[in-house]
Amino acid sequence: MHNLSNRLNFSGGPGALPETVLQQVQQAISAVPEVGLSILGISHRSDWFAAVVQELEDNIRTLLGLSKGSHVLFLQGGATQQFSMIPMTLLRGKTSPAEYLHTGYWSGKALAEAKREGPIRVLWSGEANNFDRLPTDAELDYSPDAPYLHYISNETVEGLQFQRVLGRDDVPRVCDMSSDFLSRPCEADRYAMIYAHAQKNIGPAGVTVVLLRDEILKDAPEDMPGFLNYRSHIKAHSIYNTPPVFSIYVVLLVTRWLLNDMGGLGNMAALNSSKAELLYRTLDQSDNFYRGHANIADRSLMNVSFNLPSKDLEQRFLQESAAAGFSGLGGHRSIGGIRASLYNGLTLSAAEELAGFMAEFKKANG
Ligand SMILES: *Cc1c(COP(=O)(O)O)cnc(C)c1O
Repeated sequence: MHNLSNRLNFSGGPGALPETVLQQVQQAISAVPEVGLSILGISHRSDWFAAVVQELEDNIRTLLGLSKGSHVLFLQGGATQQFSMIPMTLLRGKTSPAEYLHTGYWSGKALAEAKREGPIRVLWSGEANNFDRLPTDAELDYSPDAPYLHYISNETVEGLQFQRVLGRDDVPRVCDMSSDFLSRPCEADRYAMIYAHAQKNIGPAGVTVVLLRDEILKDAPEDMPGFLNYRSHIKAHSIYNTPPVFSIYVVLLVTRWLLNDMGGLGNMAALNSSKAELLYRTLDQSDNFYRGHANIADRSLMNVSFNLPSKDLEQRFLQESAAAGFSGLGGHRSIGGIRASLYNGLTLSAAEELAGFMAEFKKANG
């Protein structure tokens, strides 16, 4: 038996989804009201599903204020497939290096894949400092000749988040927003490409949202495998082969919730900030009992990574928090410690309960 509470799911991913969305999903598994069939058995070639894809695209455009010059695609393979598809498309045959920032675990994965496809230059690395901070503008010497600049807006493992747009306006910006997409407004038109899998902030695993400006495909190789060619998916309006109908539908429900219940990304960002402030305040007022991993200026509003004075205390923290109904608080296997992820679906009251638990735990063990 367990006593975990879904309200208190602080998992790094797949992440918590809003309760009202989960209720609609439950109903859709039996039958989507306007169709009469289970979402698990509706044809991807139906008019209804084409309308789902269209509405989801429209909702994302509305939420981000994205212009018509960008395509909105729903692909498979997760962010990991984008780590390869991007350099296959934009770097093959190039002589000047693409620029990559190495700010944490996930950007390390991205640059390892890019290296297979062409020249890259690591513009800045936080590896020697255990990825505890992000670079300042003064530390970034961008080249005007790079085919593109790649970075990750939120390092999910270490809990580091950029609060500004990087790069030069004359070099295409490519950004992995997997763990903070639709958590705040983002000046989407300034990026040549944004990609984000669904399973941290906006839905279940299985679908990856890719926004890309048409002009970046102009020199892309023509001889790519069909499935790995963005042009195939653009032409097929994201229904090139059987797409993950269920995952796409859930992401649609989340975007409806963002638009109608939350009232847009400005409000979502304000709520996400309140949750994060609560936990960071708990760290900062703990007399160094809770030790934040990230440099204060670079703290993520999505993932709060921290340590306790000893591994034993961390173990006890995880055991006692699980007994109190909390889940997903174990840090990523690469760095250990504790991580509280505060994705869109996690409520303010859940963050308050965790802050309360942390205060009590410190009192008993500090
Ligand atoms: C989780 C994560 C990934 C990995 O995504 P997959 O969909 O599992 O391939 C990539 N980038 C970031 C920023 C992540 O948080």
